[in-house]
Amino acid sequence: MSQPQRNPDTLPTSGDPSGPCLRCGRTSNFNVVNSWAMLTLTNVSPSRPVSRPAELVTVLQCQGCTRQSVVVEAEIGDQYGLKAVMWWPSDDIADVQSFAATVPSDVLEAYSEGSRCLAVQAPNAAAAMFRTTIAQIVQDKGSDDAKAKPTLNAAIIQMEQDGTMWSEFGDWAHHIRHTGNAGAHGEAFDPLDMEQATDLQTFIQHIIEFLYVQPARRAAARAATRRAAPPGDV
Ligand SMILES: [Zn+2]
Repeated sequence: MSQPQRNPDTLPTSGDPSGPCLRCGRTSNFNVVNSWAMLTLTNVSPSRPVSRPAELVTVLQCQGCTRQSVVVEAEIGDQYGLKAVMWWPSDDIADVQSFAATVPSDVLEAYSEGSRCLAVQAPNAAAAMFRTTIAQIVQDKGSDDAKAKPTLNAAIIQMEQDGTMWSEFGDWAHHIRHTGNAGAHGEAFDPLDMEQATDLQTFIQHIIEFLYVQPARRAAARAATRRAAPPGDV
């Protein structure tokens, strides 16, 4: 049997016990404390019956902080192979904790809720919350004209005209707005998949990094330089 693929960027599973820790937020390796099959399926083959876990709950212990978290994996739609469907705890998924000091609470709460939707495999709900995150960013960063627009589409266009953001911001924001509309209006759009919703989360992470986290870091770096100046040099 081949070794399972390890990917330190994705949340840990029973087959790939590495990735971001849901307790301390650091990229870590995990010990499998215990794994329990809640549901087992049996194939009736000509030679012998073969059982396989179809729902598996696994407790993982971070080798860094030693605290424990849970992943639930299940076989979806009778397709062989387990797929992670839920993690606990989910409050700090996707850097929410590290953004807390610099990101306004309305923006952070929408982003956090979208990320928790991804943790329970709810891509349409996640996309709708990422669209709301963009709407909150418009309220925080937009001009009075942009904030007064009746639709998010018009507000983003106004921000492009105002030059409030970098030049590609409008492209990103429109993509998130449009995909978020699809998530919220399943009667008019095809359902989104996890990859589409995860892409939106990545875009939002980059936007938050650029708009809030990096300026805070630069401000902190400037303050450190001033304190290092020789006495009398003002
Ligand atoms: Zn940890």
